[in-house]
Amino acid sequence: MSDQQVLAILGGPKAVTTEPGDMFTWPIITEEDEAAALEVLRRGAMSGSDVTMQFEDDFRKWLDVDYALGFNNGTASLQAAMYGCGIGIGDEIICPSITYWASCTSAYALGATVAFADIDPVTLCIDPKDIEHRIGDRTKAIVVVHYFGYPADMDPILEIARKHNLKVIEDVSHAHGGIYKGRKLGTIGDVGAMSLMAGKALAIGEAGMLVTNDRDIYERSLALGHYERFDSNIQNEALKPFIGLPLGGYKFRMHQISSAVGRVQLKHYDARNEEIGRAMNLFWDLLEGVPGVAAHRPEKGSGSYMGGWYAARGHYKPEELGGLSVTRFCEAVEAEGAPCTPGCNLPLHQHQLFQTADVYGAGQPTRIANANRDVRLWDTSLPVSESITANLYSIPWFKHYRPEEIKQYANAFRKVSENYKQLLETDPGNPVKMGGWNMFNRR
Ligand SMILES: *Cc1c(COP(=O)(O)O)cnc(C)c1O
Repeated sequence: MSDQQVLAILGGPKAVTTEPGDMFTWPIITEEDEAAALEVLRRGAMSGSDVTMQFEDDFRKWLDVDYALGFNNGTASLQAAMYGCGIGIGDEIICPSITYWASCTSAYALGATVAFADIDPVTLCIDPKDIEHRIGDRTKAIVVVHYFGYPADMDPILEIARKHNLKVIEDVSHAHGGIYKGRKLGTIGDVGAMSLMAGKALAIGEAGMLVTNDRDIYERSLALGHYERFDSNIQNEALKPFIGLPLGGYKFRMHQISSAVGRVQLKHYDARNEEIGRAMNLFWDLLEGVPGVAAHRPEKGSGSYMGGWYAARGHYKPEELGGLSVTRFCEAVEAEGAPCTPGCNLPLHQHQLFQTADVYGAGQPTRIANANRDVRLWDTSLPVSESITANLYSIPWFKHYRPEEIKQYANAFRKVSENYKQLLETDPGNPVKMGGWNMFNRR
């Protein structure tokens, strides 16, 4: 064995020798962003809506939709999307168990509940085959999450939704600018909602956006928490008597420093997203056929493309590496100089918030307080959601197409794969719990 092949974790040389510089710096902030933020500050316009409405206009044009509505964060935009779809007391939504909690948790605040579905082990998005048998007579919507940037398989989901008269809510928080068979994510279902917070791919500060072509969904979403815009422009007769006060008692307006920075970020987003895509695809191309690791991206020629690559992950196949745990694999890759964290979000259906918590003092768990059936999963399980964490790891989130550097990072993964036998004896295995309830992305 040459010295080059000794893993860095065992004292060998590192695969990554170039300093990352700004390779992972995000968002990219220039004087243009600074000027936009300062303009709002100096004008004292932090709390208005003029810049936000311009940002909404930009967003409408970007996604080619009729309506866009800004929010203070993505969580609020998702709650408004649910309300927009008519979800209320006793209703159910179907949501994948593997996602960030905000995809579904605010259903509680509407008096509704969540039936969790399993994910597909390849796409990591909701499994279309695990939806239909979860539909009850109070089910109103399916929440689809384009998880880790991967466009969920929308066609069969839309078919199920049409058949059962359900709305489809797309949570685009991980996948801004992604494409499903030629269609832009967020515009395929009835309504799209997304986080634009500083860690996401389209990163502008604390903010969220809702997009739809449905005027009724738009107006209901607005009525819930945009009091000063809930005005005489409203066409929905059922809403008109209540103009002027937010129906939900919420205040969901976007901070205008966010919308000002958002306008600048959006202007550059397609070009930056394209460069991220080129860099990430090169990384996976370099690792094609390497044992133990496999890309999480749509197949070439499918017409579908990752959006943003937020918190991007790779599939891990321990059986190809003598059973080496993903935990030990990641430790070794990190020692080579490449960021790599095992796991993903923990399955939501196992958290006590969705089992026993009585959030609003109903005298019984909120999950079933208003429902006409118990949708908790006691005897059955979601096998993919419960085991997937041992088969995933984060990959470096390149922001620039620099082939020579990307090669070094790919080599870190390749080197650990090729020399996995050096690690088997010292492998402590995976801990009982891997991953977190919240999203995590260390770099
Ligand atoms: C970040 C995120 C949200 C929530 O957005 P915030 O802006 O943080 O409120 C919702 N869904 C998913 C999948 C997310 O990752």
